[in-house]
Amino acid sequence: MKKILLTESINTKGVELLEKYFSIIKASNTDEKTLIKLSGDCNGILVRTAKITSKIIENSPELKIISRHGSGYDNVDIESATKRGILVVNAPLANIDSVAEHVICMLLASAKNLIQMDHITREGNYHLRNSFLNIEIKNKTIGIIGFGKIGASLAEKIKSFGVKINAYDPYLKSYNSVPSYVTMKSNIDDIFRESDIITIHVPLNNNTRNMIGKSEFLKMKTSCIFINASRGEVVDELALYDALKMNRIKAAAADVFAKEPPDKNNPLFSLKNIIISPHNAALTEESMINMAVDSAQGIVDFFKGNRPKYVVNPEVIF
Ligand code: NAD
Repeated sequence: MKKILLTESINTKGVELLEKYFSIIKASNTDEKTLIKLSGDCNGILVRTAKITSKIIENSPELKIISRHGSGYDNVDIESATKRGILVVNAPLANIDSVAEHVICMLLASAKNLIQMDHITREGNYHLRNSFLNIEIKNKTIGIIGFGKIGASLAEKIKSFGVKINAYDPYLKSYNSVPSYVTMKSNIDDIFRESDIITIHVPLNNNTRNMIGKSEFLKMKTSCIFINASRGEVVDELALYDALKMNRIKAAAADVFAKEPPDKNNPLFSLKNIIISPHNAALTEESMINMAVDSAQGIVDFFKGNRPKYVVNPEVIF
C-alpha cells in the first residue's frame, strides 16, 4: 500500500478518502527535520502550510506527488519538485468564496469602524458614536489587483453594492472573459490613484514580493482602505505601518503577514486603523471540507493513473 504523509490535520472527509487507498502517516509537527524523517519512504505528501523544502524533497526518494490543501503553493519548493519529476497539485477552487466573503467582511467592517464601535460601546462610551463617521460603499471605486479566481469572485459579489470596479492584471491572456461591470486598467498607478478601496489578490512570487511599498502607498488617496488577503510578503509591512501611522491612507485590513505566525509585538498591532485576522480567510466549515477532499482527490487520481484536475507543474507529466 502506498504511503501518504499528512503534514497537518485536515477535515475527516479528506482523511477518509485517502484511507480507502493508502496508508496514512500523520506528522506530529512540521519542522523540517521531522518531515524529512517521516517522508523518507512516503509516496505522497498532503500539505497545508508547512514548508516543503528542497531538502525534504531530495530526501524522499519514493515521493511522486505533493498536494497542497488550498490555492497558493509558495510553501512548496516547486522548482525542486519539478526537477525531481514530482507532480504538485492543489485545490484552487475550494476556498474562493470563503476568501472573497472575508474580504467583503473586512471591507465593510473597516468602512463602518465596526471593531472600534464594538469597543466603545462595551467600554461605556456610547456617546462616542458621533465621533466616528462611517462611510457608505455605494458609489465608491474599488481597485482589485490580480483579477484571478478570488478577484473575479469578489467583483461578482460586491457589484450589488453599487460600486465602480476597476482591476489590474497584466497576465490575463485576454479581457474577453472579464465581466462588463469591471474596467481593466493597463496601468497599476490608475488603481492607486482612483481607488477608495484597494484589495490585492496576486500569488506570491519574485515579481510580487513587496510589490506594494512606500511609493505605492504615496500614490493612494488619503481616504483609501487597503486590504491584503493574498500573502503577507506581497506588501512591505513597515511601509504599510508608516502609511497608516502617518494617515497617508485611512485604514487597512490584513489577513496575512510577512512572518506567520506574526510576532506579538508586530508594529501593525499597535494601530487602531487596521483590522487583523490570523490568515483564516479560507478557513470556513465549507472550505475546510472542500480543500481536504479536493487535495486528497488529486492524490487518488494520480495513483489511479488519471490526470489530477488541478496541476501546478504540468511539465512533469507532459
Ligand atoms: P489566481 O491564480 O486565480 O489569480 C491570481 C491572479 O493574479 C492571476 O490572474 C494573475 O495573472 C494575477 N497576477 C499575478 N501577478 C500579478 C501582478 N504582478 N500584478 C497583477 N496581477 C498579477 O489565484 P486566486 O485563487 O485568485 O488567489 C490569489 C492568491 O490569494 C493566491 O495566490 C494565494 O496566495 C492567496 N490566497 C489567500 C488565502 C487566505 O487564506 N488569505 C486563501 C486562498 C488564496
